[in-house]
Amino acid sequence: MKYRVRLDLNFDSDSDALALMDYARGLSTRAVSINEGRDDEEISFCEIELCRHDEGLPCTRLDRLEVRKLR
Ligand SMILES: [Zn+2]
Repeated sequence: MKYRVRLDLNFDSDSDALALMDYARGLSTRAVSINEGRDDEEISFCEIELCRHDEGLPCTRLDRLEVRKLR
């Protein structure tokens, strides 16, 4: 059993978004992925995107951190 957190927060300020990403990056060293390398793997991750859906445009991924032990 694990304790899973899911969140998806949009900010007006890039500094708020980067602060949350940095906090998540720090905690990610204690996070684990489940069944890594198997068909049913669930990889722990955090992402930061530039979201332009308020302008009718798509999101652009800026960074993605994945918790993996296998490479
Ligand atoms: Zn978007």
